[in-house]
Amino acid sequence: MQKSKCLILIVVVGLILNVLIAQLTYQQVKQHLADKVSLDVDLLGQKLDAQLMRYSKLPELLANDPRLLQPLLADQTSPSKTNQYHQTSQLLQQWAATLSADTIYLINLQGETLAASNWQQPDSFVGQNYAYRPYFREAITGTPGQYFALGASSDKRGYYFSAPVYHQQSVIGVMTIKVDLSLIEDIWQYEDIEYVIADSQGVVFYSSENNWLYRSLIPLDEAQRQRILASRQYGNARLDPLTGYAGLDKLRHNEAINIRQPADEKSAAYVVANHDMAQAGWAIFGFSPISAAYQYVAQAVLMFSVFYFLLSLAVTSWWQTLKAQKALARLNDKLEQLVVKRTNTLLESNQQLKDTLRQYERSQAELKQTQSELVQAAKLAMLGELSASINHEINQPLAAMRTYAENSRKLLNKERYDSVANNIDEIIKLNQMVADIIARFKVFARKGSEHNNRTVAADSIRSATSLLRNKLIKEGVILRVGDLPADILINADAVQVEQVIINLLHNAIQALSSAHQPQIGIQLAALDTLVEIRIWDNGPGLDDDQKKRIFTPFFTTKSDGLGLGLTISRRIIDAFSGTLTVTDHPGGGAEFVITLPRSTEDTQ
Ligand code: ADP
Repeated sequence: MQKSKCLILIVVVGLILNVLIAQLTYQQVKQHLADKVSLDVDLLGQKLDAQLMRYSKLPELLANDPRLLQPLLADQTSPSKTNQYHQTSQLLQQWAATLSADTIYLINLQGETLAASNWQQPDSFVGQNYAYRPYFREAITGTPGQYFALGASSDKRGYYFSAPVYHQQSVIGVMTIKVDLSLIEDIWQYEDIEYVIADSQGVVFYSSENNWLYRSLIPLDEAQRQRILASRQYGNARLDPLTGYAGLDKLRHNEAINIRQPADEKSAAYVVANHDMAQAGWAIFGFSPISAAYQYVAQAVLMFSVFYFLLSLAVTSWWQTLKAQKALARLNDKLEQLVVKRTNTLLESNQQLKDTLRQYERSQAELKQTQSELVQAAKLAMLGELSASINHEINQPLAAMRTYAENSRKLLNKERYDSVANNIDEIIKLNQMVADIIARFKVFARKGSEHNNRTVAADSIRSATSLLRNKLIKEGVILRVGDLPADILINADAVQVEQVIINLLHNAIQALSSAHQPQIGIQLAALDTLVEIRIWDNGPGLDDDQKKRIFTPFFTTKSDGLGLGLTISRRIIDAFSGTLTVTDHPGGGAEFVITLPRSTEDTQ
């Protein structure tokens, strides 16, 4: 809608401007044509004036030649007169040739031509009577005459200059020079404009346009027509008017006028200018067709239309670009706002992430705490299970000590002091035994160090087996321990390795609860840089799925199990850069393999 309105506005403005341009161009071109035609007719007028001036004084000059008196004064009846005339004609012929005059001729007082420069030509003036011509009538009164007319015998347009020939103060003849008006064509060739030369009444006797010749610029009244016809100045020409204007004044004001074209009776508009030739009594009128202006107007309108079209295009595209730029700027603003918004959101989510991370770290710490609490719980659970055998082990020496003590009291009453002393020795031994048992029990109570100590692997194995000895016996498990060389040293904490072995033995004992001839084996071997401890049993063993999962926390198949024993054990061994893996024992059952870095004598 907006677009079509814009288009209509552009077209309407374009049309209005075109009309203005057309009008302006028309006025300008018209003025230019008027100036040009005015300049041209002035120039032509000046040239023509100069030419006519050349001839105007000649008849007077020639009339003074005494040789002209003879033929004029000669006796009309004398037989030698013809001869005289011929001689004069020859003289005139010479003059005409020298002065480039059309004809020079001598007329007597009766108007008869006695001698003429064209005396030898068929249309010779000799013998013709020009008494009716105004230039003759003027000359015999003693005044030089000028006159334009069609030649009566030659039918050629001419301008006539006449002067009286005097003899003893009286006029005895007339000297006449006829100038052919075709000389105008020699001095002036027009292409752009039409021009005419008209007499004081407006009759055109010379014209660049043939159809206008011997017509009047304005309508003549009947009396004028008759007078002109009688003078035979323009032969029998009809003198039809070219315009309908009342007076010649209209044609003297550089205005546009309409000229009826004799060829088709149609009118055409012209810009007109005139130049008055006062001496001759003529006026030159120049006409420039206004139709020439239309061509310029069309050109100007076309050029302006193209310019306006291009300008409209440029302005439109500039406007579109401006609009697009504005839209882009708006889009940019929006985008920036969006970016700011997104950045804020991002900052918020970043903050949230940080918070979450902090929360995660807190939960990690809490988890660690829980984990170590769980480890402790697992150890306690293990202790609970071990307490039975420990109790059993302590109860036995305690009961023995009690028996020895009661026995000693009885022996004291009987004063058998030696036996009492023996009993006391036994009590001391038993006390030491209890102390040893408690010392081992303490192993579980204390936390192991994570530093890599140099430990004799066999010691850890022995401590673990002796701690579980009673339980093994109670469960009827046969323990097969291989060679335990004292020179196999490991880089690990003895207590923690012992805890791992106890845990593995404990699991094996549990796995063997319903086994036939239950057995547990322990093997120690040194391999280059590693020490390998293998603990196997002939229990039910583990399927593939279980083997994958037993080291993950809380995996248990026991109703009262925590599922942390193996996880903790693997962690402990990992901490000493070792490995704990499970495999199938060749004779059935499970086989756990501990590897630990070997410590040699010099690597301390
Ligand atoms: P828990 O003893 O509390 O179950 P553990 O991590 O010590 O936790 O053991 C995980 C599981 O591994 C046990 O529940 C048991 O199913 C399996 N397992 C451990 N040792 C043996 C073994 N020697 N023979 C068969 N299964 C075993």
